[in-house]
Amino acid sequence: MPKKVLGIIGGGQLGSMLASAARKVNIKTIIICDDPNAPAKKFADEFILSNYNNDQKIEEFAKKADIVTFEFENIPYLTLEKINKFTKVLPEPNINKIIQNRLTEKDFLNKINIKTTLYASIENEEELKLNKRLLPGLLKTCTLGYDGKGQHEINSIEDINNIKLDPKKKYILEKLVKLKKEFSVIVTRFASEKYEIYEPIENYHEEQILKNSKIPSDISDDIKEKSKVWSKTIAEKLNYIGTMCVEFFIDKNENLYVNEIAPRVHNSGHLTINSHNVSQFENHIRAICSLEKIPTKKLFNAEMINLIGSDISNYRNKKFKENEFFYDYLKNEIKNKRKMGHLTIVKKLKNK
Ligand code: ADP
Ligand code: MG
Repeated sequence: MPKKVLGIIGGGQLGSMLASAARKVNIKTIIICDDPNAPAKKFADEFILSNYNNDQKIEEFAKKADIVTFEFENIPYLTLEKINKFTKVLPEPNINKIIQNRLTEKDFLNKINIKTTLYASIENEEELKLNKRLLPGLLKTCTLGYDGKGQHEINSIEDINNIKLDPKKKYILEKLVKLKKEFSVIVTRFASEKYEIYEPIENYHEEQILKNSKIPSDISDDIKEKSKVWSKTIAEKLNYIGTMCVEFFIDKNENLYVNEIAPRVHNSGHLTINSHNVSQFENHIRAICSLEKIPTKKLFNAEMINLIGSDISNYRNKKFKENEFFYDYLKNEIKNKRKMGHLTIVKKLKNK
């Protein structure tokens, strides 16, 4: 039987890790990406260089694949729809449409009774002035933000008076949560009420970029349970197929909020490659390619350290211990604030 071909939109490190996981379960990969130096090129069986609105290339890509997925959510919705006409895209494009806009994402969450921080839609300076109740707050662009890009802290009326909004962009103003902890839940939904779910992963950010993740997380059992229920509810209401991540906040009064949803594999789940029998990447591929669902079990506790910018230089020639796993994303150029690689350290479980 010929091998199944998985199409992946996007060629960053998540694409690389998806392609590696696909190889493990005997599935071929074809990647489409607009970056000639895409790191995932080295991991995929085939690579198409194209921007995401070249109809001819998009069609060629779609026709070569049996199923298509994506490694980042900011793909134009129209592109996903076009691909979906030839080859099924999972998770479904309409899910992406909701989640790629911070405003429709938060409206959706509140509609299904899941708590988020308070927020308002902002299109001009006047609307900012009308929402002083949300200060101190974070002003974010509704679309295309990642790793804290497109975000401004607004603490006072003076900040409001000084800010110049881009009239071509839409924004959301979010009340700042007094953070006690951040964590994420990664869940893979195979079909209605059929899940594999990882235990909550504690995350630590620096300058709005993920720096460390670890399991077990140091949070109460109640919150662990509640966050898993919320994550499953979100996946169920979206009719989601594949791996997704829900990012959570806990505030100083132990209130739980959803920060955002990532409709894809997630940086905080990199440690699952080494800590579990089935990684978030393999589970994603198993779910979207209709492969067997394997009960997912933790083998080790783990900690992941993101190597950002020049951090990577200190690791490239380092000797690692048996329980340390170093991943170099093989990016062409070291850039400030750019995720260049990661290190996972596993620790034996107490009862082993
Ligand atoms: P991105 O898409 O860039 O990941 P996020 O909304 O997750 O955007 O913001 C990145 C980080 O900024 C969060 O993980 C958190 O540390 C901080 N942050 C974002 N929104 C808030 C908020 N409303 N209150 C407190 N901290 C926030
Ligand atoms: Mg985030």
